[in-house]
Amino acid sequence: MSDKIFVQTSTEKNYNLHFGYDLSEVLKEYISSYSAKKAFVLVDAFVLKNHRAHFEKVLKKKFPELQIFEVPRGEKAKSFEIYNKAVDFVLGKGVERATPLFAIGGGVTGDLAGFVAATVLRGIPLIHIPTTLLAMVDSSIGGKTGINHSVGKNLIGSFYQPDAVFADVKYLETLPQEEWVNGLSEVLKYGMIHSPEILEQINTLIDDESFTDGKAWLSLIRQSAQIKTDIVAEDVLEAGKRAFLNFGHTFAHVIEKEGNFSEYSHGEAVYAGMIAAVYASNKLGGRIELSNLLQFKSLYDLSLDTILVSPAELVEGMKADKKVKDEQIQLILLKEPGSPYLYKVLETEFVEQTWEHTLKIFR
Ligand code: NAD
Ligand code: ZN
Repeated sequence: MSDKIFVQTSTEKNYNLHFGYDLSEVLKEYISSYSAKKAFVLVDAFVLKNHRAHFEKVLKKKFPELQIFEVPRGEKAKSFEIYNKAVDFVLGKGVERATPLFAIGGGVTGDLAGFVAATVLRGIPLIHIPTTLLAMVDSSIGGKTGINHSVGKNLIGSFYQPDAVFADVKYLETLPQEEWVNGLSEVLKYGMIHSPEILEQINTLIDDESFTDGKAWLSLIRQSAQIKTDIVAEDVLEAGKRAFLNFGHTFAHVIEKEGNFSEYSHGEAVYAGMIAAVYASNKLGGRIELSNLLQFKSLYDLSLDTILVSPAELVEGMKADKKVKDEQIQLILLKEPGSPYLYKVLETEFVEQTWEHTLKIFR
């Protein structure tokens, strides 16, 4: 079973996103067009250990000189140190403009490997094979690549489109529950900003006890990828509509920061952030049932008890977000489910109330 979406960008690169359970044949067919004998694989350490045979059997036949670089697990791999090591590896093994690089892993591997592919020889072919739910529905789409800097996350990078993306849900068989929940937040986000029926579909998965079944998720993954693709296609360099993808995120970034980027996962923070955004939306006349989101609360097991600073300080934290212009907080809010808009905050009192309310929900 496989399926695909054609991505048209304003750059010269258009490409396909493939979806399915076990995409070996599709991948085999795709790589047959490459003339190189060598290829690079930058792969997440866990994925290498548990899924090596799955990708190697296809890639090695076509590229006898397959060069595998293991990306350490965790956000720390998006560093200058690992970037340097990866570039040393790629240049050291010999690379030409036509040598493809496969990024196999979650968003961390995708962002790092994407940046390596974007910068080595000013760009070599990049193929994403996302292996987490989050990477399949979010990070492998849109062409953002990069690493972190001590000043902040994702501050060094470039826009670089892949040649193809293969979302093979066979990889998800080993994904732990907390990573499903992490990706779930982005899928819920697509439901909130674009397709409210997505929330009902997730509910059905939970009712059917298929919450961690990759095959059961295929349709939702495809719909999510389509929504991100469509939004990005209209706004490749992030000037307008792409901001809608930040729904819940302005609140979430403060939560992540308050938790020193270790207490709360991105997905947990985005979940709480979306609840805050719905509350704020309704304060401004929106008509969204908070229960649409709250029905998933038990999956998260989230407490914001460790956030000890006041709502006013949290608002100050929002002003420091990298997407803030001239200290003015911009929120993505909803008129109703599926109808987002950008709101520039002039009066911060209602944002403070929003924080108060949100913290109460997660006490
Ligand atoms: P991740 O890459 O760290 O993966 C999460 C964990 O899952 C890791 O421990 C990894 O080893 C493990 N893992 C990966 N595949 C697995 C599998 N099949 N089975 C079992 N375990 C597996 O994190 P993530 O959530 O995938 O991505 C987060 C990163 O993505 C962040 O750095 C974020 O900044 C970035 N991101 C980028 C974009 C973008 O547009 N480029 C968008 C959103 C997020
Ligand atoms: Zn996110």
